[in-house]
Amino acid sequence: MESRYTGISRSRLPSWLRKTLQTSTKIHEIKSKLRSKKLHSVCEEAKCPNLCECFERGTATIMIMGRNCTRHCGFCAIKNGEPTPLDPDEPQNVAQQIKEMELRHAVITSVTRDDLPDGGAAHFARTIEAAKKSNPETAIEVLTPDFEGRALDVMTVCHAGPNIFNHNLETVERLTPYIRNKAKYARSLGVLRAAREGLPKGLIKSGLMVGLGEMFEEVERTLSDLKSVGCDIVTIGQYLRPNKKAIPVAEYIPPEIFRRYQTLQLKYGFKMLFAGPFVRSSYLADKVTLEG
Ligand code: SF4
Repeated sequence: MESRYTGISRSRLPSWLRKTLQTSTKIHEIKSKLRSKKLHSVCEEAKCPNLCECFERGTATIMIMGRNCTRHCGFCAIKNGEPTPLDPDEPQNVAQQIKEMELRHAVITSVTRDDLPDGGAAHFARTIEAAKKSNPETAIEVLTPDFEGRALDVMTVCHAGPNIFNHNLETVERLTPYIRNKAKYARSLGVLRAAREGLPKGLIKSGLMVGLGEMFEEVERTLSDLKSVGCDIVTIGQYLRPNKKAIPVAEYIPPEIFRRYQTLQLKYGFKMLFAGPFVRSSYLADKVTLEG
């Protein structure tokens, strides 16, 4: 099938999505430091195309609560499997990792733990508190699951005082059942609305992937929905198939369409909107701190 915008068949990666992957001692250093504390990054688990660049810049998104997710979203490379018991040392290990990496902006995310009564909210809160205590100068961003929409669990995370609360809608309403089979569009908007209440002085963030068959107007409607629940920051990036089991790319969105998405920042009054082929929810996340 060829792209509506470019006519490029999806079997061929367009020029703007070709990236030379480099490796370096810095990348190995970060990986070995993470492993030494039984930690993992979502960068590695989700096979993010920006890993080399981010690790080279000394940033990484730390993933807590194990490597096995209780869900199996069609776009995601993270393993679905028997969840592992929570590691009581993990909050301190994350705090130490942030310290050693001298991060000015740290992103903490997790798999979804529908097996836990609070979805892991208390463990998330302990991790934020430990990270803030050991790294008072570091901005803490959390990228959370939907806690099955329980506002109480969202509040537990917010009351631990992250600077940025991020929960991704991932796609437009029409495609949500196909892309995130156990999630609900309205429920995720509810999570962001609760976070807005729970974090009045913080920033609320969400992210979308495009190239899954959505229409431009549907993305615009999604931005309007995000604005209506108090979202400040949005990321929009190209979906890339992480492996053969994941759903196929519907099309490669050309840079000029991302530039059109970028213009919607002003139209909807977002504090920040990052739109580009390689944009991911944590990609260059520290820009918010550096430029905020
Ligand atoms: S819930 Fe998150 S980590 Fe789990 S499969 Fe879906 S996107 Fe991946």
